[in-house]
Amino acid sequence: MKALIIERPSSARVAELPDPRPADGEVLIRVMACGICGTDVHIFQGEYLGGYPITPGHEFSGVVEAVGAGVERFRVGDRVAVEPNIACNNCPSCLNNRQNFCERWQAIGVTLPGGMAELVVCPESAVVPAGALPFDKAAFMEPLSCVIHGVERARCRPGDRVLLLGAGPIGILLLRLLLLQGASEITVVERNASRLSVARRSGAAETRAGTDGLTTDFYDLVVDASGAPALEALSPRYARAGGTVLFFGVPPAGKTIEIEPFALFRKGLTLLGSYTSLRNSYQAVALIESGKLPVEDLVSHRLPLEEFGRAIETIRKGTEDAMKVMLFPSRT
Ligand SMILES: [Zn+2]
Ligand SMILES: [Zn+2]
Repeated sequence: MKALIIERPSSARVAELPDPRPADGEVLIRVMACGICGTDVHIFQGEYLGGYPITPGHEFSGVVEAVGAGVERFRVGDRVAVEPNIACNNCPSCLNNRQNFCERWQAIGVTLPGGMAELVVCPESAVVPAGALPFDKAAFMEPLSCVIHGVERARCRPGDRVLLLGAGPIGILLLRLLLLQGASEITVVERNASRLSVARRSGAAETRAGTDGLTTDFYDLVVDASGAPALEALSPRYARAGGTVLFFGVPPAGKTIEIEPFALFRKGLTLLGSYTSLRNSYQAVALIESGKLPVEDLVSHRLPLEEFGRAIETIRKGTEDAMKVMLFPSRT
């Protein structure tokens, strides 16, 4: 099979590898679509959790090519998506319903070979049926699962007024899900004009290129999807008394921000982080299948595996029209 290999930071190539075979309890998947996300950029740049060499790719969908002994839920030919985070289900965190903080955490495409390859093996428990969904839509299951987890943590209430900072692919998914949850109006701040226009056609009530002039002490919920520490530092001031601030975007590790503790006290704010997802895959597939949460319009670039370098550059440069860049490893 063909697989992308990051041999060491900043060095990737497509190689010919032996086809993987599913062991007992594993499913072999032919990867049909694999999204690229910020985590992949971090892995490529040497800033993330796993070791090298690694085949990245944790947002993918495909067709079951073979199943190992004992696999019960899948047959050859089934269309599937994958929840890449693998919890051990036998550590204190897992047994306390905090599988996203599993102490023996592994992830397909981070610590284990991922979906930027023609074939990948996954434990059956990581595989989710994708029904008749087109593969590029099903590849949104993982990022949408994370978004669902964040929105559940934020407890958006019907009628809430929301401020959303950042309108990349994740920001737009947050926007659409918050509207489904009953947010009455969402203001979006994003400096990329084409992303702002996606926000407008997704139902944003107001879009702005910066925070100048935003009403302070006003929003029931402020969601940061930028991961930019400077914006995150500002976010509590826009929340109303009793409001909530959700830090969702991934900031650079090690950076700090200044927050006035008295303001948190006086406004009784709830500050939240959100890390990956917590068994939200079935919800994500159901939402995509329902058509209530469109995802396919977020795919801005469709590329073969060999164009990984160009894909990373496109994301890093943040060119005007770049949203979700998707690879198609098995397209000939
Ligand atoms: Zn991701
Ligand atoms: Zn565990």
